[in-house]
Amino acid sequence: MVEIDSRIRDRIDTGPRFTTADAHRLNNLFRGATTQEMLTTVLTERMLGDVAIVSSFGAESAVLLHLVASVDASVPVLFLETGKHFPETLAYRDLLVDRLGLTDFRNLEPDPERLAAKDSTGLRWSYDPDGCCDIRKVEPLARAMTGFDASFTGRKAFQSATRTALPRFELDLSDAAGRLKVNPLITWTPADVDAYFAEHDLPRHPLVEQGFPSIGCAPCTNRVKPGEDPRSGRWAGWEKVECGIHVPLGDGDPNLPSF
Ligand code: SF4
Repeated sequence: MVEIDSRIRDRIDTGPRFTTADAHRLNNLFRGATTQEMLTTVLTERMLGDVAIVSSFGAESAVLLHLVASVDASVPVLFLETGKHFPETLAYRDLLVDRLGLTDFRNLEPDPERLAAKDSTGLRWSYDPDGCCDIRKVEPLARAMTGFDASFTGRKAFQSATRTALPRFELDLSDAAGRLKVNPLITWTPADVDAYFAEHDLPRHPLVEQGFPSIGCAPCTNRVKPGEDPRSGRWAGWEKVECGIHVPLGDGDPNLPSF
């Protein structure tokens, strides 16, 4: 714990912040700890350096935002304002920022010149969703993350087959700077999420009751039938399963636990 903390303070900016060994060590350190215990420790002891929450303000986002805000409401919250969200999501975002007292909320917008050059019609999602996500999500987040060492995500194992093997702490392999991704809710079940919403009287995203268990940009989000993979309504008809800010783990990925 101390070793990781001192390395963050003393690091040279160009060096990797964390390694896969650090991620494994953190996973071992917090094995058996509750989500609240883990969050309280890493935030109060600054074990992750400068950390932000990346939130979609989607169906279950209120849980992670409330958990982190309960420890420190000043943790920066990054929202990818793609320009393609449902109006309900933007209203829900504003409601949660106010209700949870999030004091460092940040909208991340695409670079206007890149947008004009690569998606002047605003229809790139319809023929090249990967390219659209790059311009509207991946690039703005990469720019914002230069100021951070780690990020919290709201990913959960039950959401899709590509998320079942995710550990709590993982090295972001798409990022040469060695940033960590932390998945505090990875072991949570739908029942855990529902119970947390009820216990803390958190407002629901208005589209959940209309059949959207996973909510992203409006053109790329469909309703899901009961019993289907909650994320099956995202990019329906395409091979795409993640927007590019999360890369699915593959065989041999060093983030996978080695038993
Ligand atoms: S989710 Fe769809 S609209 Fe949103 S950035 Fe990706 S491709 Fe574009």
